[in-house]
Amino acid sequence: MKPPYDPDLELRGNLIRSLGALREMLPGSFVERKRSCGRPTCHCADGKSLHSQYQISVLIDGKPKALNVPARLVEEVRHKIEMRHRFDAAAETICSVNLKRFLQEKKEERSA
Ligand SMILES: [Zn+2]
Repeated sequence: MKPPYDPDLELRGNLIRSLGALREMLPGSFVERKRSCGRPTCHCADGKSLHSQYQISVLIDGKPKALNVPARLVEEVRHKIEMRHRFDAAAETICSVNLKRFLQEKKEERSA
């Protein structure tokens, strides 16, 4: 017998299957900083046309670190950090589906 259709289980299954695509995720947040390089002849010396510097802001062994991201990796790193947010959102949804099922199961047990 096929179990009855349950939209929560379908959602949970879809989320679980989508997680594999997020395996390259990176922790932390993506930060853009503006800075001057200090060369007096550079365009940034006016204090307005500053250079962009990209960093991953992340906790390593409980300590906050800012890791520089080379320009060629900026898009890739931004994308991989975004994956982590999608992973967390999926985990949260899966947990709330399971919690709902747990509460439902308890209720059914009591009324049986
Ligand atoms: Zn400069």
